[in-house]
Amino acid sequence: MKIADLHADIGYDLLRNKQIENRFETEHLSKLKQGEVEYCSIANYFDGSQTLEEMKEMMDHALEIIEASDVELLKTKEDFKTKTGVFMTVEGMCGVKDHPEDWVKFMKEHHVLIASLCWNEANALAKGAKGEADYGLTALGARVIELMEENNIFLDVSHVSDDAFYDIMKVAKKPVFATHSNARALCPAARNLKDDQIDLIGKTGGLIGMNGYVNFISENPACQDADHLAQHARYIADRIGVQHVALGFDFMDYFDDGEGKMAKGLQSAACAQNMVEALRKYFTEKEVEMICYQNVCNFFQKNL
Ligand SMILES: [Zn+2]
Repeated sequence: MKIADLHADIGYDLLRNKQIENRFETEHLSKLKQGEVEYCSIANYFDGSQTLEEMKEMMDHALEIIEASDVELLKTKEDFKTKTGVFMTVEGMCGVKDHPEDWVKFMKEHHVLIASLCWNEANALAKGAKGEADYGLTALGARVIELMEENNIFLDVSHVSDDAFYDIMKVAKKPVFATHSNARALCPAARNLKDDQIDLIGKTGGLIGMNGYVNFISENPACQDADHLAQHARYIADRIGVQHVALGFDFMDYFDDGEGKMAKGLQSAACAQNMVEALRKYFTEKEVEMICYQNVCNFFQKNL
């Protein structure tokens, strides 16, 4: 079964391991192929410490590597009809302090399809899930959202704090993603979504990607597996419909401290087919196909 992964920190990994020849092919493309992950996010992940120049350096590098490889870069609605490949995303905008027009133009020129205002930190745009600030969304953040929407770059709320989430929902006019978050009713992590947040995302027509990180699946180590992640998918589908459910594994096998962070059976993209098996217990074959890749392809075919 083909799979679309809405969140993989590959852009970050490529810059960090710039000195390793063919890192993209040997570390990433080989595993994506093995797991039949035919649509994959190249997330450019910024943890709150990067300057604008450093952010740009990562994105320039990622694009250069993709263009030099034999994998397709998906940019348009046509691409999601006729090709498989990778697409650019941004996780966090800590280096953006002003000139929102220039920044959104830069993202557009780098073919970014989905972007989040912050990682876990509070920055000049919004407060993340672990941020400390007396605001949710700032005026600058609201302006960035407006510009992103004008340019068909979709907003990702996976890392925002609850107050930023509700602020964002007041100003967002286009569909909103939570690319890698589960249901807080099943696992009480701040990075997971509350019921009313799930409902609000559903109302925008957006997608929620199921995250394979152990601490977002269950508090009980015995339940941190693909089966219990499929239960999050079922829970969200029961609230807002299976057409809003997707996958955003957030694989961390290629990080030095990644050991033990991923669910049993979902250690890397190479094992992604185990998720297909887990979903089959809770969904019809047609629905499994929707969650695994069709919802993502349909979304971009319709909205890009
Ligand atoms: Zn993340």
